[in-house]
Amino acid sequence: MSEQGQQVGPVDHPTANGHVLLNGKFQCNCGAVMANKQHNISSHISKKHREGSAFQRAEEINRRSCGICGFNAIKFHMLVTHVRNEHGFRGETRVLQDQYTTSQVDEAILIPANQCIG
Ligand SMILES: [Zn+2]
Ligand SMILES: [Zn+2]
Repeated sequence: MSEQGQQVGPVDHPTANGHVLLNGKFQCNCGAVMANKQHNISSHISKKHREGSAFQRAEEINRRSCGICGFNAIKFHMLVTHVRNEHGFRGETRVLQDQYTTSQVDEAILIPANQCIG
């Protein structure tokens, strides 16, 4: 069989979301490219997607961005550490917590400028 690289075969994985490229590799919907082998695809999915993983879902649900610079935090304490270290925030974390719990995924948390020193 000659290596023309034009044969687009089926994806070698039962539940993968993606397609086979002209070069025969598998491209996942997230953009990652790997060998079109069930083993490779399974390992990618378990590392990057973990379907049904409570851990990953929690990360997605809790993702917010810093209202000053757009930094992405996946946990509340990450945002607090960030604004304290990067923006000199010295106010009460309750102000941020309230926003965190009432906002949606990827929304910006507004950092009161008058509570930032330096
Ligand atoms: Zn992927
Ligand atoms: Zn920031």
